Amino acid sequence: MKALAVFPGPREVRVIQREPPPLVAPDDVLLRMLDVGICGTDKEICSFEYGTPPAGEDRLIIGHEAVARVVETGPAVEHLSEGDLVVPTVRRPCPGPRCLACRAGHQDYCYTGNFTERGIKEEHGYMAEYVVDRERYMVPVPAALDEVAVLTEPLTIAEKALMQVFWLMQHRPPWLSPGTPAAERGRGLSALVLGAGPVGLLGAMALVMAGFRTYVYSRELPPSPRTDLVTDIGATYVSSQETTFPDLAKDMGNIDLIYEAVGQSHFALEAVRVLGQNGIFILTGVPGLQAFTQSDPARLMRDMVLKNQVVLGTVNAGADAFAAALRDLENFADRWPQSTAALIAGRYPLEQAHDLIFGRTTGIKSVISFRK
Ligand SMILES: [Zn+2]
Ligand SMILES: [Zn+2]
Repeated sequence: MKALAVFPGPREVRVIQREPPPLVAPDDVLLRMLDVGICGTDKEICSFEYGTPPAGEDRLIIGHEAVARVVETGPAVEHLSEGDLVVPTVRRPCPGPRCLACRAGHQDYCYTGNFTERGIKEEHGYMAEYVVDRERYMVPVPAALDEVAVLTEPLTIAEKALMQVFWLMQHRPPWLSPGTPAAERGRGLSALVLGAGPVGLLGAMALVMAGFRTYVYSRELPPSPRTDLVTDIGATYVSSQETTFPDLAKDMGNIDLIYEAVGQSHFALEAVRVLGQNGIFILTGVPGLQAFTQSDPARLMRDMVLKNQVVLGTVNAGADAFAAALRDLENFADRWPQSTAALIAGRYPLEQAHDLIFGRTTGIKSVISFRK
């Protein structure tokens, strides 16, 4: 079978040939990969800033955003059978007996850091024709989501964040009642999304779906496929080349939620200054090495205390967030069929992966497809 691997030693990225992986554990499932998304993490791995091969190997097969079809199941597999569609999750638990998070199946909250991640950290990824993993790490996908389910993994970032935001909101401020329906939790509240990449756009869709009055703030000037999508889902697009943060804040009123999906520390620090009373600031981007910036920590502390603010970092994601992402993808496809389809810029053969990873993408999410 074909796969795309990085070789950190000689610093090479290339298509390799290898035997398909065998079923080993009784609950193993063999998957035929259909679509595998490319994201910034893949780019960092292919630039050798990140990523670790499995122990004893010189290469790492990349890819962590995928949808696949079940082709074979081990004797102890209970809920999946041949032909089923699944999205495989990414992080695998650490072996530490005292890691409460991993022992509870919530390796996204792992305490030890000894977790592994498929396609990223010490386990091969999904940019290969065939993949084997345990049934418990796969989320079943309704057949109708075949074409868009590759977006599930990037959407889990927003879903995990929103699950925590809703938990916080039901407990603070105290006048919001628990048990508010999902589609009304953001009613009367405003949300600002920083960045118009796939994570930002999927986050904006989830926020609009939850009833937030949503703005997306990014560098590019409209019109573009991304800014058109923002308008189509009923959010407001604002370019940082035309409007400053203070002017944006004047326009939005109290900013209840900021969803950062850029990974630019300077930009995030500027944004935190416009976070409103009782506001929640969610950080999802992982900044690389960036220029040192001066800030005013006293002002930051003063604002956070006097405005009851929360800053929340979040890394994706548990099985619950994958299930929530699939439910929301179904909602997106119902409510905005064109925009949901437009999130996928194109499907390309594996041989083009290298160029797509390093080239400037014109669309929104590029996908490597193994469909014939
Ligand atoms: Zn990714
Ligand atoms: Zn752990």
